[in-house]
Order: sequence, then C-alpha cells, then structure tokens
Amino acid sequence: MKLSRRLETLGVSATLEVTRRASELKAQGADVIALSAGQPDFKTPEHIRQAAKKALDDGHTGYAVPASGLDVAKDAVRQKFRRENHLDYERAQIIVTVGAKEALFLAFMSVLDEGHEVILPAPYWVSFPEQIKLAGGQAVVVRNPGDDFRLTPQHLTRALTGRTRIVVLNYPNNPGGFTYSEDQLLALSDVLKGKDVWVFADELYDRLTYDGTKHISWASLSTETYQKTITFGATSKTFAMTGWRMGFAGGPPELIAAMAKLQGQSSSGAAHFNQYGLVAALTGDQGCVEHMRAAFDRRRHLMYDGLSSIPGLTCSEPKGAFYCFPNVSATYEKVKVRNSIDFAQKLLEQAHVAVVPGAAFGCDDHVRLSYAVSEDNIQEALRRLRTWLDKAQNQ
Ligand code: PLP
Repeated sequence: MKLSRRLETLGVSATLEVTRRASELKAQGADVIALSAGQPDFKTPEHIRQAAKKALDDGHTGYAVPASGLDVAKDAVRQKFRRENHLDYERAQIIVTVGAKEALFLAFMSVLDEGHEVILPAPYWVSFPEQIKLAGGQAVVVRNPGDDFRLTPQHLTRALTGRTRIVVLNYPNNPGGFTYSEDQLLALSDVLKGKDVWVFADELYDRLTYDGTKHISWASLSTETYQKTITFGATSKTFAMTGWRMGFAGGPPELIAAMAKLQGQSSSGAAHFNQYGLVAALTGDQGCVEHMRAAFDRRRHLMYDGLSSIPGLTCSEPKGAFYCFPNVSATYEKVKVRNSIDFAQKLLEQAHVAVVPGAAFGCDDHVRLSYAVSEDNIQEALRRLRTWLDKAQNQ
C-alpha cells in the first residue's frame, strides 16, 4: 500500500522525536533529564481547570457552535488582544483553534498556492517548514551570519521576490530566545511598505519577556501592518495549557473566514468545554502568568550563567520565551560528532540529558535547552553536560 507523495517528504517533529527517545530510556530505568519539551512544568492554574470542569458538568460537550469558536471565547481573545497587544479586532476577525499549530496550518493553507514563497528567518519553530511545504509553498530560509539571529532589513530586502506571499516573524523566539525592539520592527515594516505580502506574526510567548523587555505586536505598528497581518497566540505556554490545545488568531476578516471554512471541513474546531478554560485564562486573574514568568526568569539566569561558564559553549542571553540556544559547534571535534543531531544523541545516550538539535530549527551549530523545568533539574543537567564535555576532552 502506498502513501501520498505529500507524506513522503514530510519530516518528523524533532522535538517529539527526542522526547520519544528520552521516554524510552526512562522506561528502561534511566534517570533522564529532559530539557527537550517546549512546555512549562506547572499545572494549569486552578481557576482555569475549574472552569473547564464546570463546563463539562453543565453539558457543554456537543460540537462548539460556531466551529470557529464560541462567541464568549472570541470575546475573551478580543479582550486579551486589546489589553496586551493594543489590537482591536471584531468578532469576525478572530478564530479559536486547536492550539496555535492549527491556526498556523489553516493560515498557510488559506494563503499559499504552489510555488509561492514564504520568508522564514532561522532559527525557526520546527513545524514552519513542514506546514509551508504541505500547503504547497516554498520556505526561503534567511539566516544572519553570526549568532544575532534577528532578521535585518537588508536580509529581508534581499529575500523578497515577486513570488513572496508571506513573511513569518516569531518573537519572542522559539528556540532563539530573542525578541525585537520597536525600532527594529519599524525598520522591517518600512521594507514591506506597499508590498502585497502577508506577515504571520507568531507571538505565542508575548507575555514571557525578561529584564523589562517590552513586547510590541507587529500588527500594532501601523494601519498597514494591521491590515496585512495575522497575529497568532495561544494559552499553551503562558498558562501552562499545552495539552488543552487552545490557540487563536486575529486578522483581516476575509482571511479569518477562509481559515474558518477550512477548519469546518477538517477539525470542526477546538474542544467545546476547553473553550471555557480559555475564557477563564484570558479574562480571569492574571497573577498566575506573572508567578510563572518570575519562576522562568530565575531559571533563565541559572541556565544562562551555567552555560556561559562551560568552555566551548557560547550563548546569547535569552530575553523571552523559555529556551537557551547555545552554539556548541566548538565542541564537535572533542566529543567526536559531526553535527547537532549527533551531539544531542550522544549527550542523551551517554549523559542522559535530552536537548533538541539545532538542525531542527535551521541552525546546526546549536542545541536548544528548555528552562521550563525545575531549578534542581537545570543544575543537575548542567553538571552532567560539563562532566560529559570534560571527559570527552580528556579522552
Ligand atoms: N509557534 C511556536 C513558536 C511554538 O513554539 C509552538 C509550540 O511549541 C507553536 C507555535 C504551537 O503552539 P500550540 O502548542 O499552541 O499549538
């Protein structure tokens, strides 16, 4: 039996693959520290869980109507966008989705035709190239030389062609941990002025910034960016709700309507009772977000300081999200590996620390470590990494 050509060229999610191997080793009794998963180790806050439990008890277990999101959920998303992103959207400009992943997939499918190009700055979130490919588009990966990964106006100008349909911007960035200042964003928006190009602004980590870094939404820069942007969000990372599969997007009504049409023929929308959890998260007490952010901030210092003190590793200080993305390529010869995939595999097998190879994000000199884990685990993982590298050096 044959599979479609579409599937034959589809890559497997590298983060899921590392997590799978780490679980396998754990099941065999190994004491594995997983820094590979992109999710908080916190429980979803109590008031959010209660809201979904109540919705179940109240019988909200049928199809959600409309499939694109309950009115009450769309209104909660509108409130969030207005309060935190200075973006005013009507209901018809909002869609509620099965995680941000579905929103992004629907949007690529709604905009791209065969041969269209999507400018994708590296490092990028692992699913972007695959979703673009599935939608018939071609990812044009742009990568700054050096380790300041931010897209520059020069690189953007050079990458634009008559076939460019979309520019993807993800900040705070997974896996890079960097974000953009307002001036940097404005300089990029100047390049796109008057061009018939969408911006997909993945701002999932908008509330997880550090050292007073302010998040500025791309769509809020000007009337033009507002009209040509779709802004993606989710409660996954900020409210420790990855398993709830709750995402959303805001943008021009015609694009949202196209996405809703596709959603109606594919998933039929996000789970009905979970949408009450989304409402509780976005409209309830926001103290839980700050509580988790402060914990991530402490762990960020611990991990960044630790990595910076290991010879051979260089790491930019993350200003957002919850990842460190050190350049480990100076150690490759020493640990007898050729690339980040071998590095991550060897580290997992020999030192039982799971990290994600940078190759999955378009940067083979790096690996990604999540600091959304306990301080004890960060400390122990760093100790193992240092010992493993020392040993390799003395062999
Ligand atoms: N975009 C980025 C940058 C992410 O890091 C992730 C999840 O890791 C997603 C989108 C997908 O989010 P969700 O779990 O809400 O589908």
